[in-house]
Amino acid sequence: MAVFSEEIVNWLKAAEQQAEGRFREIDQIADHNQWKVIEAFQRHQVSDYHFSGSTGYAYNDRGREVLDLVYADVFGAEAALVRPHFASGTHTIATALFGLLRPGDELLYITGRPYDTLHKVIGKPGDGSGSLQDFGITYNEAELNADGSIDWEAVREKITDRTKVIGIQRSRGYDWRDSFTVEQIGAMVREVKAIKPDVIVFVDNCYGEFTEEREPTEVGADLIAGSLIKNPGGGLAETGGYICGREDLVRLASYRLTAPGIGGEVGAMLGTTRGIYQGLFLAPTIVGQAVKGSVLAAAVFERAGFASRPKWSEPRTDLIQAISFSGAEQLIAFVQGIQKAAAVDGHVVPEAWDMPGYEHPVIMAAGTFIQGGSLELSADAPIRSPYIAYMQGGLTYSHVKFGLLTALQTMKDRNLL
Ligand SMILES: *Cc1c(COP(=O)(O)O)cnc(C)c1O
Repeated sequence: MAVFSEEIVNWLKAAEQQAEGRFREIDQIADHNQWKVIEAFQRHQVSDYHFSGSTGYAYNDRGREVLDLVYADVFGAEAALVRPHFASGTHTIATALFGLLRPGDELLYITGRPYDTLHKVIGKPGDGSGSLQDFGITYNEAELNADGSIDWEAVREKITDRTKVIGIQRSRGYDWRDSFTVEQIGAMVREVKAIKPDVIVFVDNCYGEFTEEREPTEVGADLIAGSLIKNPGGGLAETGGYICGREDLVRLASYRLTAPGIGGEVGAMLGTTRGIYQGLFLAPTIVGQAVKGSVLAAAVFERAGFASRPKWSEPRTDLIQAISFSGAEQLIAFVQGIQKAAAVDGHVVPEAWDMPGYEHPVIMAAGTFIQGGSLELSADAPIRSPYIAYMQGGLTYSHVKFGLLTALQTMKDRNLL
């Protein structure tokens, strides 16, 4: 068995005791969402035959159709498009945006600069890549206030008659800001619709699913999207994404995913259907495990003298735990320590590399069953100042605990604690 220094073990025990009350709150959210998912399965009479998958055009794949209905139900939406054909979260979000926007329209993000991989989706006018701006769709953003809140003065100024879609990113992504709760997103929806009633509100829901009792579609968001190798895939979905929301808008996105007029009526599920259903079934509970792990990480690293965001005691609306380090060496030791605790590829030492879609070298701990699956315990850190690691996930709370102990011990062994 791994041996950890007494000091580290004591920090962890104290952090665990401190967070007891938070853990009970997280269990209650997990119960609420678990039952919500089970009841949605029951309402749509999910049966064994829905899992069989399909080939070719896959017309009338009842498993695929019911999966969309179940997702729509769980997310309180009119319709959903849940497919293994989405290659990533970025692809899913891009499909939604290209579905909604036409040349001459404008996309306005009101939560500041979006997640790194979306920068190239937005692109630049005439960049030749087929980005939104290359197609003559313009883009604007309202930076957040210094305290991380929405700059409403800027938003009011930037909403024009060409503003077709308002973009909101729920999760902090790779930024040292707070994530936006579902309640805050609801308030944003009301505010932008008061300014421009026909604007479409799109929410990048990545990492947020099942961390609260409600989802953005339940507080007025018109369309949301996320990745199945994050929260709603429950660690079992092998690939894919989902889009939920207003029926007409989901249809537009489906036309972009396949072809106009065809939409979601085709698309072979091959062997993925059971994993996507079973993953959704498990997701609320596994998200609860991961969120508990994030709270523990905040508590133990605060004890060890590091700044964390959110703090252990603060409410959560996503999986991500940001921890601030004082330099690249500490950051790298932390990420390598998380990797060392993995069941898969625990023997591999991660290094920083220039990942497609990212603007700085990124180091990632991703000892996962699903490649890049970040409902599994993982950590990402762009190697840039300020040195912040973003950790997330954990299919079991116990694994997160093991990861935190191993990361702290790795730092201590290198005299970085
Ligand atoms: C992960 C993520 C994305 C992109 O998803 P990928 O699967 O990495 O392409 C977009 N937005 C946010 C907030 C994310 O967390």
